[in-house]
Formats: sequence, C-alpha cells, structure tokens
Amino acid sequence: ESFVGLHYPASDVPKQAKELYRLNLLRLIPDALYQPVMLEPLLNPITGEALDLSRSVLRSVSPMHTEYLANFGVRASMSISVLCGGGKPAPVPKAGLRPTEQRQLWGLIACHHSTPKLLSYETRTICEFLGQVISFEVGSKSDAEDVDYKMHIQAAQARFVNTIASCQTLNDGFTQNPQDLCALVGAMGVVFSERDSLTQKSQRVASFGQTPPESEIDNLLIWLDDQIGENAVYSTNTLVSEYPQLMPYKDVASGLLALRISRIQRTYLLWFRPEVIQTIDWGGEPNKPVEVTENNQLRMTPRKSFDLWKQTVQLQSLPWKTCEIEAALELRIKIIGIVLQKADELALLNAELERSNIELDSFAYVASHDLKEPLRGIHNYSTFLIEDYGDKLGEDGNHKLATLMRLTQRMEDLIESLLHYSRCGRAEMILQPVDLAELVESVLDVIRISQPSPVQIRIPRPLPTVSCDRTQIMELFTNLISNGIKYNDRDQKSIEIGYILPSEIDDLVPTGLARSQTIFYIKDNGIGIRDKHFENIFKIFKRLHPATKYGGGTGAGLTIAKKIVERHGGRISLASAFGEGTTFYFTLGANS
Ligand code: ADP
Repeated sequence: ESFVGLHYPASDVPKQAKELYRLNLLRLIPDALYQPVMLEPLLNPITGEALDLSRSVLRSVSPMHTEYLANFGVRASMSISVLCGGGKPAPVPKAGLRPTEQRQLWGLIACHHSTPKLLSYETRTICEFLGQVISFEVGSKSDAEDVDYKMHIQAAQARFVNTIASCQTLNDGFTQNPQDLCALVGAMGVVFSERDSLTQKSQRVASFGQTPPESEIDNLLIWLDDQIGENAVYSTNTLVSEYPQLMPYKDVASGLLALRISRIQRTYLLWFRPEVIQTIDWGGEPNKPVEVTENNQLRMTPRKSFDLWKQTVQLQSLPWKTCEIEAALELRIKIIGIVLQKADELALLNAELERSNIELDSFAYVASHDLKEPLRGIHNYSTFLIEDYGDKLGEDGNHKLATLMRLTQRMEDLIESLLHYSRCGRAEMILQPVDLAELVESVLDVIRISQPSPVQIRIPRPLPTVSCDRTQIMELFTNLISNGIKYNDRDQKSIEIGYILPSEIDDLVPTGLARSQTIFYIKDNGIGIRDKHFENIFKIFKRLHPATKYGGGTGAGLTIAKKIVERHGGRISLASAFGEGTTFYFTLGANS
C-alpha cells in the first residue's frame, strides 16, 4: 500500500520524541513485539539519579509507539532524521554540543517492514550518512527558493523606507506608497492606525487594498492589544477562528500580520491575507483519538485507522513565512531609526533657533539701549536751538526743527518698544497660580482711569486660576483689552472677556490652537481686521493705521502679546469680521 501524497499529523510524533529524533539521526526498532527489559540498577548507585538514555541505541521506545506500529501493521521500523537549519542558532553554543543540536527536525525518512528485520552496522551507517546528505540538500534547496522572494521583499522594503524618509509623518508615507508596504510581507491589504493627535483618544485609520472595513479596526485593535502583549509582532493564518467577529470578512482577513510600532501612540500596521481553501489527504483521521477506559477515564491512544481521510481546510490564509515576519520587524526598526533621526534634527534646529533668538534679543536690547543716548542728544540740541536761536531761524526753520523733534520723539517711542520687547523675551518667568478674575479686574481698573468714554465690559463667568507669570499675563490682557477699546469707533464700545473649555470648543475657534487646552478670548465690537492682515499684525512695528489715528501706538503691542503667549507654551490667533469686531483667542500651554 502506497503512502505517497498522504499527510500524517504533527501530533503523531510527540514533542519529546521529536527532540530525540534531533539528537539521534537514526532510530531503530528491529522487532516491534520485543519485550523491554528493566535497567539494572534503575538508579545510579553513586549519584542516586536515573541514567540519561537519550543517546542510547538500545533504549526502549514508548509503548504508545509500538502500539501505533502494530495498528499500522508494521513489525520493524527505522527512521532517519532530516534536519534543517530553520531555527535560530543558539546565541552562545554550550560546550560539547554537536552542530546538529542547533538545527530543527524538518522531516523523517520512515522505513517500515512487515516482518522483524535486523540491519548491519554498515547499512545503518550508510543510512545515517544518506540522511545527512539529504538534510544538507533540503537546507540549501529551501534557502535557494527563499533567496528570490527575500530579494523581492527587501526591494519593496527599501522603496517604502525611502518614501517615509522623505515624508513628514508615517501616515504621509503610508498614503504615498502603500503598494510597497503591502508587497514587503506579501499581503493583499494593509491598514495603518495610530492614536489621533488631536483627540488623543480615538484611533485614526487609513487602509489600502483588501482589508476589513475601517469600522472593525477599533475593536480588532482592542483584541490585538491582548494578543501582542509585550511583543512587537503578532501573526496568525487563522484569524477568523481566533477572532470570530471578522467571520463576515474571511475573504479578505483570514490571515493577519500585526506590527506595533509605538505602544504609546498605539501605532499599528496590520496586513491582511484572504482565505485559501485547501484539500489535504491525511493517512487516517488526523485528530488524535481519545479512548474511554473501563474506569471511565479518558486515555490518549495511538491511531487505529490509517485509511485515506480527506480534509478541506477552510478559514485559513496562506501561512506567514519567517522571512515575511522578519521583514516586518526590520521595517519597524528602520521606522524607529528614521523617527529618532528626525527628532534629533528637530532638537538641533530648536537649539539653533533658541540660540539665535537669544542673540537677537540681546542684540535688540544692546542696540536700542545704545541708540537712546545719541537720540536724546539730538532731541536736547533741537530744544536748545529752538530756545536760543528760534527768533533767528524764522517760521520755516522753526517748523523744520519742530518736525525733527517730533520724529526723534517717535523714534524714542519705537526704541522704547523694542527695548521692552527684548526685555520681555529675556526676563525670567516666574510661574505661579494666578487668579485671572482678580488680575483682569486690576487691569480694568487701570484702563478705566485712562479711558474717557464708558466701555461695557462683560465677563460671562468668573475666570479661572492658572499657572503663569503674573506680570507678563497682566501685560497680555492690558494690550489686548486696550486694543479692543482703541480700535473701536462706536458710541457704545463693548468688550467680552471669557474662556472656552476643551469640551465646549466649536467651529468658531480658529484652527491652530490646541483643542485639549482652555482657550481664553477677548472680543470687541470694534473696527475689525481684514483676513489678509491676520499674520502681519503680529509683526513688530506693523500698524494698519497712521500713528495719529485711533490713539496711535508703536505697533509692538501684539508682537509682545504673541511672545508672552509663546513663552507660556501657548498660541494666539484671531477671528474678525471687518467693520463688526474682532476676537483674539489664546492658550497658555498644557500646564496652565
Ligand atoms: P499698536 O501699538 O499700534 O496698537 P499692536 O501691535 O497692538 O500695535 O497692533 C497692531 C495693529 O493691529 C494696530 O495698529 C491695529 O491696526 C491692529 N489691531 C490691533 N488690535 C486690534 C483690534 N482689536 N481691532 C482692530 N484692529 C486691531
């Protein structure tokens, strides 16, 4: 009876037996009906321990095995091990290990005989040698088969890595080149998922090729978090049996290879493979039979029937190859490398920027400080000229000198603003809890004194206490509130001062402000600002009106406001309807 094309389940050879096949290349049973004899003495009288018979040729085999052979109708049997270097070699080989001990059992050449059979030492040695030659051939053949495919995988990986290296984010890389990402593990579809950077709660999902719908990914990830545990990778070719929720999508998701890139950001790449239905011819029913013994206990028994048993394997994808899983892990290392390199470059750039900012601040400070003195001189001498020689200069001369004095005054104001701006960048920040309700009240007290016409101030709810630098935030509110009053030509001027909690943020709030932080606002019913000036008004000395209009100013107020907000780790922005009013919004950083 031929065994060609028949499969025997892995469980036919128990784990311990497999280990012995790895240690001994030849295993012989000349007569399966032999009577085993006890070892004398059973324990070593010196050590008191049992003797290790792993390498003994005469060692008796398990009674299960002889029963198996009897069921098979076999009297004599010989197995030759075929080993293959598939497994990872042990990092540091233990002394005395033979090289075979680092290889895995790939297969067995099983020789059966219906009558007892003894083989000569010579024949056995030749068989063992044959086994070794075949082992070598099998190893190099499967290596060669893999080489082409591995090169294909590596090329796809290199192309994808190139893509992400030139992109700002991994998500951009995914959108630009998902084809190579799919090819690098031989999948039909891939999903990229990471924690949403805005909400920090939900996952943001992008997909390519054949994948389950994006609505299924959130739940799949929750399940996956448990499966993947501490590892970076998880693979299965029986996904729908393990995670039945995806049963309706077995045509695309019977196999899953999941790669976790960042645990904190919950960044995952999920590759999917479709179901592949296969027919396997087993040499007998492959499920290990269990027998009920007389005292109603279950006993494992060797198989009794070896008749052809056809099985249709469903709900499985093609298995993931070791080289594909390795390619995924390698990709992870490369992505992390790129991310770290980008972070390094950014840190360098930040340090550079910080240094040049400090230099600029100290330059502005020194320059404005030193310019003040000669300017004062020009101003004083102009005054002397008018006082001492006014009558000799005539009307035109006097007028020119008066202009000169006005201009020096203006220049002094500008220099004073520049000095103030540079001081505000250099001053040490003293962060402490500040009651903004009380702070704004004292700002309003000062403004009211200098304000001739009444202004309606509205504070919808008491302002909170935040951690900030009191002096600077006082200046911030002063600048914004007084601008709201200044750039306003209505009879009934009104200012609203309030805040918006993250849960209350709506579409009115301009983009660019962190939506996870409290947003403060100052709203006026003034002249408004056209959209095209939104950026410019924060530039130093940038004014939208002549110095004489709307009470004037040097154009440094909003530049200073922006600097203060940014020194607190926040952002400032505005929304405005020309002719109706303006609202300035700002945050004060994550810690406030
Ligand atoms: P200034 O010291 O001139 O007030 P700012 O830096 O405070 O300078 O403001 C720059 C320009 O932005 C102002 O000249 C003004 O034209 C415009 N601006 C500032 N705040 C408002 C506002 N609330 N409404 C309308 N225009 C404003």
